[in-house]
Amino acid sequence: TDGRGIFRVYSPEMGNKIRRYHYLIEELRLAIASQSFTLSFQPIVNVDDFSIDYFESLARWNHPVEGPISPAEFIPIAEDSNLIIELGNWILFEACRQMSAWHNAGMNKVKMSVNISGIQLKHLPVYEWVTDTLAKTGLPPTALLLEITESCLIHASEKIIDDLERLRQQGVQIAIDDFGTGFSSLSALGNLPVDIIKIDKLFIDQATINPKYEKILNSISDLGKQLDLKIVAEGVEVASQFELVKNLGIHCVQGFLISRPESSYNVGSKVIRNNLN
Ligand code: C2E
Ligand code: CA
Ligand code: CA
Ligand code: CA
Repeated sequence: TDGRGIFRVYSPEMGNKIRRYHYLIEELRLAIASQSFTLSFQPIVNVDDFSIDYFESLARWNHPVEGPISPAEFIPIAEDSNLIIELGNWILFEACRQMSAWHNAGMNKVKMSVNISGIQLKHLPVYEWVTDTLAKTGLPPTALLLEITESCLIHASEKIIDDLERLRQQGVQIAIDDFGTGFSSLSALGNLPVDIIKIDKLFIDQATINPKYEKILNSISDLGKQLDLKIVAEGVEVASQFELVKNLGIHCVQGFLISRPESSYNVGSKVIRNNLN
Protein backbone atom coordinates (compact mmCIF):
# COMPACT_ATOMS: atom_id res chain seq x y z
CA THR A 1 0.00 0.00 0.00
CA ASP A 2 1.14 3.60 -0.45
CA GLY A 3 0.38 4.67 3.13
CA ARG A 4 -3.05 6.08 2.26
CA GLY A 5 -4.63 2.65 2.15
CA ILE A 6 -4.47 2.46 -1.63
CA PHE A 7 -3.19 -0.83 -3.04
CA ARG A 8 -1.23 -0.62 -6.24
CA VAL A 9 -0.53 -3.39 -8.69
CA TYR A 10 2.89 -1.88 -9.25
CA SER A 11 5.91 -3.23 -7.38
CA PRO A 12 9.62 -2.34 -7.65
CA GLU A 13 10.24 -5.81 -9.06
CA MET A 14 7.69 -5.21 -11.80
CA GLY A 15 9.39 -1.90 -12.53
CA ASN A 16 12.64 -3.75 -13.06
CA LYS A 17 11.00 -6.24 -15.40
CA ILE A 18 9.41 -3.47 -17.46
CA ARG A 19 12.69 -1.55 -17.60
CA ARG A 20 14.56 -4.65 -18.74
CA TYR A 21 11.90 -5.33 -21.36
CA HIS A 22 12.26 -1.86 -22.91
CA TYR A 23 16.01 -1.97 -22.58
CA LEU A 24 16.13 -5.32 -24.42
CA ILE A 25 13.91 -4.07 -27.24
CA GLU A 26 16.34 -1.21 -27.88
CA GLU A 27 19.33 -3.53 -27.58
CA LEU A 28 17.68 -6.03 -29.95
CA ARG A 29 17.27 -3.28 -32.56
CA LEU A 30 20.96 -2.43 -32.33
CA ALA A 31 22.00 -6.08 -32.37
CA ILE A 32 19.91 -6.77 -35.47
CA ALA A 33 21.36 -3.74 -37.26
CA SER A 34 24.91 -4.85 -36.44
CA GLN A 35 24.21 -8.57 -37.07
CA SER A 36 25.34 -9.54 -33.58
CA PHE A 37 23.61 -12.92 -33.46
CA THR A 38 25.00 -16.36 -34.10
CA LEU A 39 23.42 -19.76 -34.63
CA SER A 40 24.11 -22.92 -32.69
CA PHE A 41 23.28 -26.30 -34.12
CA GLN A 42 21.96 -29.34 -32.28
CA PRO A 43 21.75 -32.75 -33.99
CA ILE A 44 18.57 -34.82 -34.12
CA VAL A 45 19.67 -38.44 -34.51
CA ASN A 46 18.08 -41.75 -35.48
CA VAL A 47 17.66 -44.01 -32.42
CA ASP A 48 18.89 -47.09 -34.30
CA ASP A 49 22.34 -45.96 -35.38
CA PHE A 50 22.78 -42.41 -34.03
CA SER A 51 23.16 -41.11 -37.57
CA ILE A 52 22.27 -37.42 -37.87
CA ASP A 53 18.92 -36.77 -39.49
CA TYR A 54 19.02 -33.00 -39.17
CA PHE A 55 20.40 -30.08 -37.20
CA GLU A 56 18.12 -27.64 -35.42
CA SER A 57 19.40 -24.08 -35.70
CA LEU A 58 19.08 -22.15 -32.44
CA ALA A 59 19.62 -18.40 -32.16
CA ARG A 60 22.30 -17.11 -29.79
CA TRP A 61 22.84 -13.54 -28.56
CA ASN A 62 25.98 -12.64 -26.72
CA HIS A 63 25.32 -9.13 -25.45
CA PRO A 64 28.46 -6.95 -25.07
CA VAL A 65 27.52 -5.97 -21.48
CA GLU A 66 24.95 -8.51 -20.29
CA GLY A 67 26.70 -11.57 -21.71
CA PRO A 68 24.68 -14.41 -23.25
CA ILE A 69 20.92 -13.78 -23.21
CA SER A 70 18.72 -16.87 -23.63
CA PRO A 71 16.43 -17.13 -26.67
CA ALA A 72 13.74 -18.11 -24.17
CA GLU A 73 13.98 -14.46 -23.06
CA PHE A 74 14.73 -12.53 -26.26
CA ILE A 75 12.61 -14.42 -28.82
CA PRO A 76 9.31 -13.55 -27.06
CA ILE A 77 10.41 -9.90 -26.90
CA ALA A 78 11.38 -9.98 -30.57
CA GLU A 79 7.93 -11.40 -31.32
CA ASP A 80 6.09 -8.76 -29.28
CA SER A 81 7.93 -5.98 -31.09
CA ASN A 82 7.77 -7.59 -34.56
CA LEU A 83 11.59 -7.46 -34.61
CA ILE A 84 11.39 -11.23 -35.12
CA ILE A 85 10.60 -10.55 -38.78
CA GLU A 86 13.99 -8.98 -39.47
CA LEU A 87 15.83 -11.25 -37.06
CA GLY A 88 14.07 -14.32 -38.46
CA ASN A 89 15.06 -13.27 -41.95
CA TRP A 90 18.69 -13.34 -40.96
CA ILE A 91 18.23 -16.67 -39.11
CA LEU A 92 16.65 -18.45 -42.09
CA PHE A 93 19.25 -17.07 -44.48
CA GLU A 94 22.16 -17.95 -42.23
CA ALA A 95 20.88 -21.47 -41.47
CA CYS A 96 20.37 -22.20 -45.18
CA ARG A 97 23.71 -20.66 -46.11
CA GLN A 98 25.49 -22.81 -43.50
CA MET A 99 23.79 -26.04 -44.57
CA SER A 100 24.47 -25.27 -48.20
CA ALA A 101 28.17 -24.90 -47.34
CA TRP A 102 28.13 -28.19 -45.40
CA HIS A 103 26.42 -29.92 -48.31
CA ASN A 104 29.14 -28.68 -50.63
CA ALA A 105 31.71 -30.03 -48.16
CA GLY A 106 30.14 -33.51 -48.44
CA MET A 107 27.62 -33.68 -45.60
CA ASN A 108 24.80 -33.90 -48.09
CA LYS A 109 22.36 -36.27 -46.41
CA VAL A 110 21.79 -34.04 -43.41
CA LYS A 111 18.96 -31.50 -43.26
CA MET A 112 18.61 -28.15 -41.49
CA SER A 113 15.68 -27.06 -39.41
CA VAL A 114 14.68 -23.49 -38.59
CA ASN A 115 12.17 -22.33 -35.99
CA ILE A 116 9.50 -20.09 -37.46
CA SER A 117 7.32 -18.00 -35.20
CA GLY A 118 3.63 -17.26 -35.65
CA ILE A 119 4.40 -13.55 -36.18
CA GLN A 120 6.54 -14.39 -39.20
CA LEU A 121 3.81 -16.58 -40.67
CA LYS A 122 1.30 -13.80 -40.14
CA HIS A 123 3.32 -10.97 -41.68
CA LEU A 124 5.33 -12.60 -44.46
CA PRO A 125 4.35 -14.22 -47.73
CA VAL A 126 5.82 -17.46 -46.41
CA TYR A 127 6.03 -19.37 -49.67
CA GLU A 128 7.89 -16.60 -51.51
CA TRP A 129 10.14 -15.81 -48.55
CA VAL A 130 11.29 -19.40 -48.09
CA THR A 131 11.70 -20.25 -51.79
CA ASP A 132 13.65 -16.97 -52.34
CA THR A 133 16.00 -17.78 -49.47
CA LEU A 134 16.56 -21.31 -50.78
CA ALA A 135 17.34 -19.94 -54.23
CA LYS A 136 19.75 -17.31 -52.85
CA THR A 137 21.65 -19.81 -50.70
CA GLY A 138 21.58 -22.71 -53.16
CA LEU A 139 20.09 -25.10 -50.60
CA PRO A 140 17.72 -27.72 -52.09
CA PRO A 141 14.19 -27.54 -50.61
CA THR A 142 14.48 -31.19 -49.55
CA ALA A 143 17.26 -30.17 -47.14
CA LEU A 144 15.08 -27.71 -45.24
CA LEU A 145 12.67 -28.31 -42.42
CA LEU A 146 10.55 -25.68 -40.68
CA GLU A 147 9.64 -26.08 -37.00
CA ILE A 148 6.32 -24.48 -36.14
CA THR A 149 4.76 -24.84 -32.71
CA GLU A 150 1.55 -26.75 -32.30
CA SER A 151 -0.27 -23.66 -31.01
CA CYS A 152 0.79 -21.57 -34.06
CA LEU A 153 -0.24 -24.26 -36.51
CA ILE A 154 -3.69 -24.76 -35.09
CA HIS A 155 -4.33 -21.01 -35.29
CA ALA A 156 -2.88 -20.56 -38.78
CA SER A 157 -5.07 -19.04 -41.50
CA GLU A 158 -6.02 -20.90 -44.66
CA LYS A 159 -3.53 -18.83 -46.66
CA ILE A 160 -0.70 -19.87 -44.33
CA ILE A 161 -1.69 -23.54 -44.43
CA ASP A 162 -1.86 -23.28 -48.20
CA ASP A 163 1.65 -21.73 -48.38
CA LEU A 164 3.03 -24.46 -46.14
CA GLU A 165 1.39 -27.10 -48.31
CA ARG A 166 3.01 -25.55 -51.42
CA LEU A 167 6.39 -25.60 -49.68
CA ARG A 168 5.86 -29.26 -48.87
CA GLN A 169 5.19 -29.96 -52.51
CA GLN A 170 8.64 -28.47 -53.21
CA GLY A 171 10.15 -30.89 -50.69
CA VAL A 172 10.40 -28.68 -47.60
CA GLN A 173 9.33 -30.60 -44.49
CA ILE A 174 7.21 -29.22 -41.67
CA ALA A 175 7.69 -30.26 -38.06
CA ILE A 176 5.06 -29.57 -35.43
CA ASP A 177 7.10 -28.30 -32.47
CA ASP A 178 6.42 -28.65 -28.73
CA PHE A 179 3.74 -31.20 -29.56
CA GLY A 180 1.41 -31.99 -26.68
CA THR A 181 1.49 -28.49 -25.18
CA GLY A 182 -0.95 -26.78 -27.56
CA PHE A 183 -4.06 -28.65 -26.45
CA SER A 184 -5.13 -29.37 -30.02
CA SER A 185 -7.20 -32.46 -30.44
CA LEU A 186 -5.21 -35.30 -31.89
CA SER A 187 -7.66 -35.41 -34.79
CA ALA A 188 -6.40 -31.96 -35.89
CA LEU A 189 -3.23 -33.75 -37.02
CA GLY A 190 -5.14 -35.20 -39.94
CA ASN A 191 -5.69 -31.73 -41.45
CA LEU A 192 -2.35 -30.06 -40.81
CA PRO A 193 0.49 -29.95 -43.35
CA VAL A 194 3.06 -31.80 -41.26
CA ASP A 195 5.73 -34.47 -41.73
CA ILE A 196 7.30 -34.60 -38.28
CA ILE A 197 6.04 -34.49 -34.70
CA LYS A 198 8.43 -33.19 -32.05
CA ILE A 199 7.16 -34.34 -28.69
CA ASP A 200 7.78 -31.72 -26.03
CA LYS A 201 10.46 -32.30 -23.41
CA LEU A 202 7.79 -32.19 -20.71
CA PHE A 203 6.48 -35.60 -21.79
CA ILE A 204 9.98 -37.07 -21.94
CA ASP A 205 10.75 -35.78 -18.44
CA GLN A 206 7.51 -37.16 -17.02
CA ALA A 207 7.40 -40.48 -18.86
CA THR A 208 10.20 -42.16 -16.90
CA ILE A 209 8.67 -41.19 -13.54
CA ASN A 210 4.93 -41.28 -14.20
CA PRO A 211 3.36 -44.31 -15.98
CA LYS A 212 0.42 -42.20 -17.16
CA TYR A 213 2.79 -40.04 -19.19
CA GLU A 214 4.39 -43.15 -20.60
CA LYS A 215 0.95 -44.16 -21.88
CA ILE A 216 0.35 -40.71 -23.41
CA LEU A 217 3.74 -40.89 -25.08
CA ASN A 218 2.89 -44.33 -26.37
CA SER A 219 -0.40 -43.21 -27.90
CA ILE A 220 1.14 -40.09 -29.52
CA SER A 221 3.80 -42.30 -31.01
CA ASP A 222 1.26 -44.88 -32.28
CA LEU A 223 -0.97 -42.26 -33.83
CA GLY A 224 1.99 -40.52 -35.45
CA LYS A 225 3.13 -43.76 -36.98
CA GLN A 226 -0.33 -44.54 -38.32
CA LEU A 227 -0.33 -41.12 -39.99
CA ASP A 228 3.13 -41.84 -41.48
CA LEU A 229 4.75 -39.05 -39.49
CA LYS A 230 8.29 -39.11 -38.20
CA ILE A 231 8.38 -38.84 -34.41
CA VAL A 232 11.13 -36.96 -32.58
CA ALA A 233 11.56 -36.88 -28.79
CA GLU A 234 13.13 -33.64 -27.60
CA GLY A 235 15.11 -33.00 -24.42
CA VAL A 236 16.45 -36.53 -23.89
CA GLU A 237 18.99 -36.05 -21.08
CA VAL A 238 19.56 -39.48 -19.54
CA ALA A 239 19.95 -43.06 -20.75
CA SER A 240 16.70 -44.27 -19.13
CA GLN A 241 14.76 -41.74 -21.22
CA PHE A 242 16.56 -42.88 -24.35
CA GLU A 243 15.72 -46.53 -23.64
CA LEU A 244 12.06 -45.75 -23.03
CA VAL A 245 11.74 -43.67 -26.17
CA LYS A 246 13.48 -46.33 -28.23
CA ASN A 247 11.20 -49.06 -26.85
CA LEU A 248 8.14 -47.01 -27.79
CA GLY A 249 9.36 -47.00 -31.39
CA ILE A 250 10.04 -43.26 -31.55
CA HIS A 251 12.29 -42.63 -34.57
CA CYS A 252 14.62 -39.82 -33.54
CA VAL A 253 15.95 -38.11 -30.44
CA GLN A 254 17.39 -34.71 -29.60
CA GLY A 255 18.94 -33.84 -26.29
CA PHE A 256 21.94 -33.24 -24.11
CA LEU A 257 22.50 -37.02 -23.85
CA ILE A 258 23.43 -36.99 -27.54
CA SER A 259 24.82 -33.48 -27.94
CA ARG A 260 24.33 -29.92 -26.76
CA PRO A 261 23.82 -27.21 -29.37
CA GLU A 262 27.24 -26.28 -30.77
CA SER A 263 28.84 -23.58 -32.87
CA SER A 264 29.18 -24.08 -36.62
CA TYR A 265 32.92 -24.33 -36.12
CA ASN A 266 32.59 -27.27 -33.70
CA VAL A 267 29.99 -29.02 -35.82
CA GLY A 268 32.09 -28.59 -38.95
CA SER A 269 35.27 -29.95 -37.43
CA LYS A 270 33.49 -32.94 -35.85
CA VAL A 271 31.81 -33.86 -39.07
CA ILE A 272 35.11 -33.77 -40.88
CA ARG A 273 36.75 -35.89 -38.13
CA ASN A 274 34.01 -38.53 -38.11
CA ASN A 275 33.40 -38.35 -41.84
CA LEU A 276 29.69 -38.65 -41.15
CA ASN A 277 28.47 -38.30 -44.71
P1 C2E B 1 12.67 -25.15 -28.87
O1 C2E B 1 12.34 -24.84 -30.28
O2 C2E B 1 11.81 -26.14 -28.17
O3 C2E B 1 14.20 -25.62 -28.92
C1 C2E B 1 14.74 -26.63 -28.11
C2 C2E B 1 15.36 -26.05 -26.86
O4 C2E B 1 15.64 -27.12 -25.96
C3 C2E B 1 16.70 -25.35 -27.10
O5 C2E B 1 16.81 -24.30 -26.14
C4 C2E B 1 17.70 -26.47 -26.77
O6 C2E B 1 18.97 -25.99 -26.41
C5 C2E B 1 17.00 -27.10 -25.60
N1 C2E B 1 17.41 -28.48 -25.38
C6 C2E B 1 17.74 -29.44 -26.27
N2 C2E B 1 18.03 -30.60 -25.69
C7 C2E B 1 17.88 -30.40 -24.36
C8 C2E B 1 18.03 -31.24 -23.18
O7 C2E B 1 18.38 -32.42 -23.25
N3 C2E B 1 17.78 -30.66 -21.98
C9 C2E B 1 17.39 -29.36 -21.85
N4 C2E B 1 17.18 -28.88 -20.62
N5 C2E B 1 17.22 -28.54 -22.92
C10 C2E B 1 17.47 -29.05 -24.15
P2 C2E B 1 17.25 -22.83 -26.54
O8 C2E B 1 18.30 -22.86 -27.61
O9 C2E B 1 17.56 -22.10 -25.27
O10 C2E B 1 15.95 -22.23 -27.19
C11 C2E B 1 14.79 -22.02 -26.43
C12 C2E B 1 13.62 -21.69 -27.31
O11 C2E B 1 13.82 -20.41 -27.94
C13 C2E B 1 13.38 -22.68 -28.44
O12 C2E B 1 12.71 -23.79 -27.97
C14 C2E B 1 12.57 -21.82 -29.40
O13 C2E B 1 11.23 -21.76 -28.97
C15 C2E B 1 13.20 -20.46 -29.20
N6 C2E B 1 14.21 -20.24 -30.26
C16 C2E B 1 15.53 -20.53 -30.26
N7 C2E B 1 16.09 -20.17 -31.43
C17 C2E B 1 15.10 -19.67 -32.20
C18 C2E B 1 15.04 -19.13 -33.53
O14 C2E B 1 16.03 -19.08 -34.28
N8 C2E B 1 13.80 -18.69 -33.97
C19 C2E B 1 12.70 -18.77 -33.18
N9 C2E B 1 11.54 -18.31 -33.68
N10 C2E B 1 12.73 -19.27 -31.95
C20 C2E B 1 13.91 -19.72 -31.46
CA1 CA C 1 12.22 -26.09 -32.12
CA1 CA D 1 10.66 -27.85 -29.32
CA1 CA E 1 10.31 -26.88 -26.21
